[in-house]
Amino acid sequence: MRTSSYCVVGGGISGLTAAYRLRVAVGDEASITVFDPADRLGGVLRTEAVGGVPMDVGAEAFVVRRPEVPALLAELGLTNRHVGTTGVRPLIYSQGRLHPLPPATLGGIPSSAESMAGLVNAATLAWIASEPSRPFRWQAGGDPPVADLVAGRFGEQVVARSVDPMLGGVYAGSAATIGLRSAVPTLTAALDAGAPHLTDAVRQALMSITAGPVFGAVGGGYTVLVDELVRRSRLNWVQAAVDGIEAAEAPAQGWMLRDDAGGGRRADAVILAVPAARLVRLVEGIAPRTAAAAGRIVSASSVVVALAVPRGVRFPQNSGVLVASGEHLHAKAITLSSRKWGRSDVELLRLSFGRFGDAPDKNPARHASDDELLAWAKQDLADVFGLAIDPVDVCVRRWVDAMPQYGPGHRDLVAELRAGLPPTVAVAGGYLDGIGVPACIGAAGRAVTGVLGAVEASVAR
Ligand SMILES: Cc1cc2nc3c(=O)[nH]c(=O)nc-3n(C[C@H](O)[C@H](O)[C@H](O)COP(=O)(O)OP(=O)(O)OC[C@H]3O[C@@H](n4cnc5c(N)ncnc54)[C@H](O)[C@@H]3O)c2cc1C
Repeated sequence: MRTSSYCVVGGGISGLTAAYRLRVAVGDEASITVFDPADRLGGVLRTEAVGGVPMDVGAEAFVVRRPEVPALLAELGLTNRHVGTTGVRPLIYSQGRLHPLPPATLGGIPSSAESMAGLVNAATLAWIASEPSRPFRWQAGGDPPVADLVAGRFGEQVVARSVDPMLGGVYAGSAATIGLRSAVPTLTAALDAGAPHLTDAVRQALMSITAGPVFGAVGGGYTVLVDELVRRSRLNWVQAAVDGIEAAEAPAQGWMLRDDAGGGRRADAVILAVPAARLVRLVEGIAPRTAAAAGRIVSASSVVVALAVPRGVRFPQNSGVLVASGEHLHAKAITLSSRKWGRSDVELLRLSFGRFGDAPDKNPARHASDDELLAWAKQDLADVFGLAIDPVDVCVRRWVDAMPQYGPGHRDLVAELRAGLPPTVAVAGGYLDGIGVPACIGAAGRAVTGVLGAVEASVAR
C-alpha cells in the first residue's frame, strides 16, 4: 500500500500546528513535509538571545481569554511554560505626554465619558456623554471602518488617542482602514442584536469579558513551542520555497509541489500556510478565485528593535507605551518587557516601528538602516521617558508584509478565498480568522480537519 503523503507550505505557527495536527491524526507511517526557505522554522515566532536572555522579537504574547494557546501548551506538556504578566498596565503617549490606559474601553472605544477623562478635551467628553441621547442607526451585518462609527459617535480625538494606539499595536493598522467586525466582533454582535446606541453596545460587549489577565507568554520564548511542535510532528523540513503546485499526473493522485531548489514532491493533501501575498502565485493555476481574493488582502510591515539595558534605568512601572496617531515619535509602540513579564538580569525592552499606509519610500522595515532604527529608538525613549539609554545589546528584526489588514468586509473576502480551493488543499494563516497566534492555531486545526475529511471521502469513492 502506498504511504500517504502530506505537504505543508510555510513553517510558521500556522504550518507547524498543521503539521502537528496531521501527525496526530494520520499516525506514524504518513510522510509530512514542511517547506520553508527561512534559516529556521517558526516564521514570526522567533526568539533571540538579547543581553544573554531569550527574548521574542516577533510575536511576544498571546491573548489568554482565547483557549487555543493554553490548550496547545497543555497538550504538548508545556503548561509549566505558560507565564503571565506582572499585572502592570500600559500607558498611552498622546499630545506629547504619557497618560494611563483608559479603563473600561473595548479596543479603546469608551463605555463612558469618564473613562476618557484627561485623554481628550472637554468638548469630546461632552460629545461622548451625549451619545445615548442622539439618534442612532445601525445596519445589521454592516462592517464600516472602525473610525467611521467611532469618530461620528464619540469624536476624532477618541479615534486618534484611544482606538488607533490599540489597532496600531495589533495590526500595525489604523481605525480608518480596519473593519469594525474584525476589530471588535463582540461589539458588532451587540449592535446586530439591536443595542440602542454605541455606548450601550460597548457596555454589553464589556460584560462578556471575564476578569483576569489579558496576555500570557511562553517562558523561554516562543521557540519552546516551535521546537516542541517540530519534534512531535516528526516533519521533514525542506528548506526551500514552493513556487508551483499542480495536479499530479495520472496514475498518481493528489498534488505535485515544486520548490525553488529544483525539488518536487507529491502530496495527497496540501496545507498552504504562507502569508496572503505569497499565496497568490502558489494557487493561480489551481484555484484562480482564491488567488484573486488573496491578492486583495494588503499587509503592513513592521520592525522590532529589541534592547537590553543595564538594570537600574528608571523606567516607569508599566508594561509599555502605545502611541496615539499624529505624534512625532517614530515608534508605534514600546514594550517594557522586563516590567511586563518579570525581572531578568538586564532590563529588556522593544520598540515597534511601521504602520499600514507608511509611504513606500519611508517604510522602516524596508528602508531604514539598523543604525537609523537604533537612533530613532534612543530618541523616542528620551522623548517619552526623558531617559538617555545606552544599550548593552541590540537586536533588529524586520517583518516585511507580515501584518495582514482586516479591512471592512474581510470575512466575506476570506469566505470567497476558501470557497475557491479544491477539497484537498486548505489555507492557514494570520490573514484568515484573526491575526493573533491563537487564531492561527485555530485556523490550522480546521484546515487539517477539512483536508483529511476530503482525502477520506475520495478514498471511499
Ligand atoms: C512584529 C509582530 C508582532 C506580533 N505580535 C503578536 C503577539 O504578540 N501576539 C499574537 O498573538 N500575535 C502577534 N503577531 C501576529 C502573529 O505573530 C502572526 O499572525 C503569526 O505568527 C503568523 O503565523 P503564520 O504561520 O501564519 O505566518 P508566518 O509566521 O509569517 O509564517 C509563514 C512562513 O511561510 C514561509 N514562506 C513564505 N513563502 C513561502 C513559500 N513560497 N514556500 C514555503 N514557505 C514560504 C515564510 O518563510 C514563513 O516562515 C505579531 C506579528 C508581527 C509581525
